[in-house]
Amino acid sequence: MDKCVFCNLDEVILENRLAWAKYDKYPVTPGHMLIISKRHIADFFAATTEERQAINALLDEARQWLFHAKIFPLKLSRYFT
Ligand SMILES: [Zn+2]
Repeated sequence: MDKCVFCNLDEVILENRLAWAKYDKYPVTPGHMLIISKRHIADFFAATTEERQAINALLDEARQWLFHAKIFPLKLSRYFT
């Protein structure tokens, strides 16, 4: 894959070596965030063990971020794209 909608990310909130987190442009709940792997992969199940760990680490960080911002999403249902 050459380019995707996440290649030129703006407004990244959190980042680690293998993934980014940002708010969804069309949130379905307050604090709706996307956790996006830096490598192009078809879905979460194509992620390596290391990428899954990085994604899960950002998921935890994103939860803390939202709690500190006093944003309480109804659910964190989508943690990969
Ligand atoms: Zn891309």
